[in-house]
Amino acid sequence: MRVLVTGGAGYIGSITTEELLKQGQKVVVFDSLQQGHKDAVLPEAVFVQGDLSDKISLENVFQSYSIDAVVHLAAETVVEHSMTDPKKYFHNNVINGINLLDSMLKYNVEKIIFSSSAAVYGEPVETPIQETHPQNPVNSYGESKLMFEKILDWYHRAYGVKYISLRYFNAAGASEKLGEEHHPETHLIPLVLKCALNYKTEKEANKKVKIFGTEYPTNDGTCVRDYIHVVDLAKAHILALEQIDELGARVYNLGNGDGYSVHEVIDTAKKITGADIEVVFASPRRGDPAVLIASSSRIKEELGWKPEHKDLESIIQSAWSWYLNHPERYSR
Ligand code: UDP
Repeated sequence: MRVLVTGGAGYIGSITTEELLKQGQKVVVFDSLQQGHKDAVLPEAVFVQGDLSDKISLENVFQSYSIDAVVHLAAETVVEHSMTDPKKYFHNNVINGINLLDSMLKYNVEKIIFSSSAAVYGEPVETPIQETHPQNPVNSYGESKLMFEKILDWYHRAYGVKYISLRYFNAAGASEKLGEEHHPETHLIPLVLKCALNYKTEKEANKKVKIFGTEYPTNDGTCVRDYIHVVDLAKAHILALEQIDELGARVYNLGNGDGYSVHEVIDTAKKITGADIEVVFASPRRGDPAVLIASSSRIKEELGWKPEHKDLESIIQSAWSWYLNHPERYSR
């Protein structure tokens, strides 16, 4: 099978590509490199630099390679930015997604795995969150993901497109070769580990982690999230591709089912790195729900997915090892 991975030079996309290659699949990565890294694309994959807004280069890919299925990760992904610049989120995550679907229709590609998000739920009314939980996004990022899920369902009903939407909770950790590197970095675990690195190298800058909000209705007042190892997440895409023909149209949560507060993440990172990570208290970030914890029983039962790196310590340890073993991280 030849799989087109949009956003395949990004954090989750590059590791999903790595897992597809391990399975013996052929992969074409399509990425604008606005956020992704050329160095994150393994040499066994074909790389095409392009943007989903550019219909001509997109169609060229379908024309040049016989694509059997698409894994669609290319997106704008920062919750806070989505509150101040929603048009970017609707253009990139909805309109560009429609360009992709239309090219798929034109070239008779009928299977797509979509990287959706826990942000489709908004503030939970029940925890752990099941797929049937009400969907009321509190940020335009979540809204854009929910819109595209609905568009997929209409393309399924009208044109027979087969889709599986995977609602990611908080991806974290690294594989041996590939890890997390955003510019600018906004995610908690890489920010905490970068502070630890700065502490170790005695660089003065960026030694402190900001804690966004300390009065949430949680045990210690900080936000609680469900961190899932990125390799476990990537493997779910393989299972989804293997079973999409029978399933046709399905939505799954992808999380561990355990919640950790911002304080707990920082304490675990301190233990692993031996660094005395300093914190400063800051205002809550706009658009952040207090608690997001997944029920992933549906994907476990239906696809046989099973997380292999469930505990927070091994997730953070893998990210830390990647930083230590790749001091340059990605140069391109
Ligand atoms: N967070 C924080 N300080 C930071 C970055 C994040 O306190 O510098 C908090 C954030 O408010 C959220 C949690 O850590 O509750 C996880 O945030 P992240 O950006 O990693 O993922 P998100 O849940 O937004 O997808």
